[in-house]
Amino acid sequence: HLPTIYVITPTYARLVQKAELTRLSQTFLHVPQLHWVVVEDSDKPTALVRDFLSASGVAYTQLHTLTPKERKLQDGDPSWLKPRGAEQRNEGLRWLRETASATKGQQGAAMETSVVYFADDDNTYSLMLFEEMRSTQRVSVWPVGLVGGMRFERPVVDKGKVVRFHTGWRPNRPFPLDMAGFAVSLRLVLTNPDARFDGDAQMGFLESSFLQGLVTMEELEPKADMCTKVLVWHTRTEKPKMKREDALQKQGLGSDPKVEV
Ligand code: UDP
Ligand code: MN
Repeated sequence: HLPTIYVITPTYARLVQKAELTRLSQTFLHVPQLHWVVVEDSDKPTALVRDFLSASGVAYTQLHTLTPKERKLQDGDPSWLKPRGAEQRNEGLRWLRETASATKGQQGAAMETSVVYFADDDNTYSLMLFEEMRSTQRVSVWPVGLVGGMRFERPVVDKGKVVRFHTGWRPNRPFPLDMAGFAVSLRLVLTNPDARFDGDAQMGFLESSFLQGLVTMEELEPKADMCTKVLVWHTRTEKPKMKREDALQKQGLGSDPKVEV
């Protein structure tokens, strides 16, 4: 049967959180054999995410880990200063390793062919992307649209092999790829128990901190028609303005806080 895709999504409480998770879940509902590992950036599981997931219809695991304060982006910091979601992705990897080691027999064997993908909550995913990544042997790669100040970034393929990367910035980074641009086999995650994201990595090196030691450029498996098709977009959601809400609240006329948004 079909290999399972474990999708690890870091997420944090903010006005648009439920909207983002709704869009993602309604994509994932169309993907067979997908297990969603949602990792909240919080000190405990939140009721919003718990209730949302239980009603979503997607197979899921709800995890949480709070980003330490010194690692967190402060209000006013430029967005590139610190990597986001690193601790949460590592928590997802920890859970996968623990779960795999506790799972024996047929189910354990099924995990061996599984695939791991890191899906941020604000991106846009084509259903076709999941069928591309399902056959990942070690690490598969593909283009990402609307990222890095470019129309797209992508691995460049020659005679079936990745030979370099099309990117607007520091092409000589070990793996100049966005988080959304690769998937790894669970087997590789399990045979490299120390592979993790370095939350202190310099800007643009978070993906490399994980992939370095797992594969070489020559071993990358190009998907999406030899990396010629964009099937995922690094969209970013505008922060909603609360000008009217704040004004009405001062008069005691704010939107009912009991209504979940
Ligand atoms: N994220 C998080 N905690 C934070 C900020 C972000 O868990 O304090 C999550 C966010 O929900 C997303 C991922 O980390 O799934 C990447 O964040 P973001 O989309 O803001 O990064 P960017 O698109 O700017 O690279
Ligand atoms: Mn994002």
